[in-house]
Amino acid sequence: MSMQLSLEVTGLTVLVAGTTTAARRVVRRYGAGGATVRRIAGPEQFHPRLLDTVSLAVVVDDLPGRWEPLLEASRKRRILVSVEEPAAPGGCVTLVGGGPGVEDLLTMRARTALREADVVLYDRLAPYRTLAELAPGAELIDVGKTPGHHPIPQPEIEALMVRRAKEGYNVVRLKGGDPFVFGRGGEEINSCIAAGVPVSTVPGISSSIAVPAAAGIPVTYRGVAHAFTVVSGHQPLPPQELEALAALGGTIVVLMGIGTLPQLTSGLCKAGLASNVPVAIVEKGFSPEQRTTISTLGGAVTAAGAARCTSPAVVVIGEVVRRHQDFRATLTDVLTHPMVAS
Ligand code: SAH
Repeated sequence: MSMQLSLEVTGLTVLVAGTTTAARRVVRRYGAGGATVRRIAGPEQFHPRLLDTVSLAVVVDDLPGRWEPLLEASRKRRILVSVEEPAAPGGCVTLVGGGPGVEDLLTMRARTALREADVVLYDRLAPYRTLAELAPGAELIDVGKTPGHHPIPQPEIEALMVRRAKEGYNVVRLKGGDPFVFGRGGEEINSCIAAGVPVSTVPGISSSIAVPAAAGIPVTYRGVAHAFTVVSGHQPLPPQELEALAALGGTIVVLMGIGTLPQLTSGLCKAGLASNVPVAIVEKGFSPEQRTTISTLGGAVTAAGAARCTSPAVVVIGEVVRRHQDFRATLTDVLTHPMVAS
């Protein structure tokens, strides 16, 4: 029988049996958990007396059968035994989507990847506060892009990722939301492939859908919006794109859009969207500081200025904003005076 267990190992003595490479991660993980770890590399080093102070025996070996004397002696003494898969030889990279910033919106696959990581390269938007617990024993490297601070340039992140994997480590590149939504995940995959490093991805819950949802706004709604377009506001959009967006008539979701809000809103109005189309600016979704500012296309810049809206925020443009659950004001109020809902 196999099962997922969470063990409190602080103060316990754990015997780890297995070859150096296979056992390395396990030794580190239990050590980081506060256990006293003893390791034996081969069955010839085993003596039943070794078990005198041991509470848990962990076998990490391609041929776990060769540890039968240890398994047998542990069973007799009713010592817990865990047989773990040895780490694959050679390192690899896993791009992990960290979701919109809270630990309980990490997927189970993301948690597993973090638990098994030797190195984690993380972003500011990823759920980094509890990273030490999620990735016990891993080296944690902040490569976050803090505006105004000194981020690690993208080519260096990719070089570091590849180098660590080539050193034999299991590297997790943890990103906010989903790695393939404005996350440069594609570029990082290409670097790994070019360097011959095995790479895989774990999708994440993207803020483009989840942050509007946190404010009670569904990005589609039967009869209201049957399409939603996610755009980056990092650079102002060219007129043809604004026209296409306006013509499509669906919900427009803008990430990284606070800086270019004036160009976007005036551009969409010029492209034909009505100036009374509702707009929601949802800041710091899923955090205690989450805040929603409701306005209109024509009034969004004034509303954002008055409310001092800052990044990270998701801007939602379209009729679905009227479905905002906490809509306390009547439609006319909202259309005439921008309001702030919490
Ligand atoms: N890959 C990410 C997006 C990266 S771009 C994803 O799929 O979610 C970063 C932008 O995402 C921010 O500028 C902001 O617009 C948005 N964002 C991410 N997390 C957010 C959050 N918790 N609250 C509000 N906006 C968020």
